[in-house]
Amino acid sequence: MKIRFSSAFISLIFCCSPVTLLAQERPPIIDMHLHAHLPEVPTGVPALCRPEPCVGDGRATATSAETLQKTLEMMERYNIVKGFLSGSLETTYEWVAAAPERFIASAFIIEAGRPSPETLRREHAAGRLAGIGEIATQLNGMAANDPALEPYFLLAEELDLPVLIHTAGFGPYLPNFRSAAGNPLLLEEVLVRHPKLRLYVENAGYPYLGEMTAMMYQYPQLYADLSTITWVIPRSAFYDYLKALVRAGLGKRLMFGSDQMRWPEVIGKGIEAIEEAEFLSKEQKRDILYNNAVRFLRLDQEPR
Ligand SMILES: [Zn+2]
Repeated sequence: MKIRFSSAFISLIFCCSPVTLLAQERPPIIDMHLHAHLPEVPTGVPALCRPEPCVGDGRATATSAETLQKTLEMMERYNIVKGFLSGSLETTYEWVAAAPERFIASAFIIEAGRPSPETLRREHAAGRLAGIGEIATQLNGMAANDPALEPYFLLAEELDLPVLIHTAGFGPYLPNFRSAAGNPLLLEEVLVRHPKLRLYVENAGYPYLGEMTAMMYQYPQLYADLSTITWVIPRSAFYDYLKALVRAGLGKRLMFGSDQMRWPEVIGKGIEAIEEAEFLSKEQKRDILYNNAVRFLRLDQEPR
């Protein structure tokens, strides 16, 4: 006996898989901090964690194709409609080609001059690049106010490009990393010189709470992401920080980002850390997961 399935029956099966249902029920999310297969770590190593002694979750992906596939799976599952993506220009463009609607292409800069501001200008003019950063030069000990970064801020202000910068108290264990070079007060000269710069700071400068609050009060153009601190430090420490920022009235300038790097499963962990924060209202969670990024990226305005 032949068994025949009607197309209605088949679509019923596919429409109602748990993943699809979950994504359909979920309101949209924007991930302001994604990387295209960074950093270089041995395949399979656990994700970062702090403070030691601790063991991170997950295992590092092997190839760019795997990182991309798993990142897209997480974006699908959690209904992440846009991601601010940085990596080498080559890999970033490969990812954008695979899912053009999903990613905002940006340049990862760990060493000033590579890629050069001239290259970024050319890439932007060619319609390939829509952001600058993560500027991660603090990982090499370079502070935000270093003159070597000035051409990037100048260019971003001129071209009206969003910029992500790592300026915080901790980062990966690299020989030249300096916590002192991550004090958000070092952004002040940059913000004074570039009042139109659309800048946001990784991890809201964790744990420089007072300094970050001062910068965000004084410079209204400054936003912040909540990225690695959603999964790399103890949940209690993240909540203390988030609660303090929200109590200070900064809930309209905080944006979710996963900073998934080579561990795409942390995307879900980061989102759940926001969703499970009992001290946040439903509206405050929506602001962090979506609304604030829409405003910062001007997705609600006509393309210029
Ligand atoms: Zn990052």
